[in-house]
Amino acid sequence: MKKHNFSAGPCILPQEVLLKASEAVQDFNGMGLSLIEISHRSKEFVSVLEKARALALELLDLENKGYQALYLSGGASMEFVRVAYNLLENKGGYLNTGTWSNNAIKEAKIFGEVVEVASSKAENFNHIPKMYGIPNDLDYLHVTSNNTIFGTQMKSFPNTKVPLVCDMSSDIFSRVIDFSQFDLIYAGAQKNMGPAGTTLVIVKEALLGKVSRQIPKILDYSAYINAKDTMYNTPCVFAIYVSMLNLEWLKKLGGIKAIEEINEKKAQLIYSEIDLNPVFQGFAKKEDRSIMNATFTLTDEKLKDSFDALWKEAGISGINGHRSVGGYRASMYNALPIDSVGVLVDVMSEMERKG
Ligand SMILES: *Cc1c(COP(=O)(O)O)cnc(C)c1O
Repeated sequence: MKKHNFSAGPCILPQEVLLKASEAVQDFNGMGLSLIEISHRSKEFVSVLEKARALALELLDLENKGYQALYLSGGASMEFVRVAYNLLENKGGYLNTGTWSNNAIKEAKIFGEVVEVASSKAENFNHIPKMYGIPNDLDYLHVTSNNTIFGTQMKSFPNTKVPLVCDMSSDIFSRVIDFSQFDLIYAGAQKNMGPAGTTLVIVKEALLGKVSRQIPKILDYSAYINAKDTMYNTPCVFAIYVSMLNLEWLKKLGGIKAIEEINEKKAQLIYSEIDLNPVFQGFAKKEDRSIMNATFTLTDEKLKDSFDALWKEAGISGINGHRSVGGYRASMYNALPIDSVGVLVDVMSEMERKG
């Protein structure tokens, strides 16, 4: 039986995407060759890459607006480094909303001065800081749209003249926002977009080429833009292909607007259970709750064994919380069917009855 997969990442992918991916591993487009044994410069793969880049820009409504879509390697953590390497000349601003922002800050400090414009660290990142000043001499301001570990999500973004950089790893393609307010967006594929191995970087070309340091080519965004077909070196062919399939799936479904409606329904379902059921309590402040990752704990730790047995029996997988929050985390990425959330909610209400 296929499990109800609430894994925080690598994430659930649509069944039809997995099926097409497995076919391509055997025989790609009837070539008599596997997708993963052909040249990345073959016309077959070049067309995959071009399609994946075009689909990303189309779905985010960023076509013909001066942006380039790149599929890079090294995970989102590599972008913590690459962003600072390419953009930090004097001062980088960071909004500290969790473990991942914190890691981005640490890397940026290697390259120059870092200003933490605000932080929710003192409350173990259970909310998004709201009122804070943004110095206007920053090279950029870096924010994390969704805090995968803590289950908080930015509902709006700072209105600033400073270039805005966003780590969107765990909620890209999940909700409608004006993506053109960002100058650079990056997202590790494995949270809401595809398999681990590639990172989508959407960058406004005008942002680049302003720092005085020499940048090693492998870390230089311009090197990927300038290289023909954006292939400076061998990209992660399999991860890019599966990401492309997933973006095609999303487009067919009706794009971000359509999936947002479903994602909101899933989030409503679980949060109303968390709020009404005395056995559980939510971790994140209500106004900042993530529609992707719902974090919650048991009000009585003694119930842990019996709850764990119940959800395992129901075929649920991947809801153990991150060690920095404890309790549980239900990750409800785009491909998770609402029925899976229904199964979890049923188990939670059964816990209340057993109480
Ligand atoms: C998982 C995650 C990361 C780290 O991603 P890697 O690809 O493992 O480097 C960074 N930021 C956010 C928001 C994440 O959820």
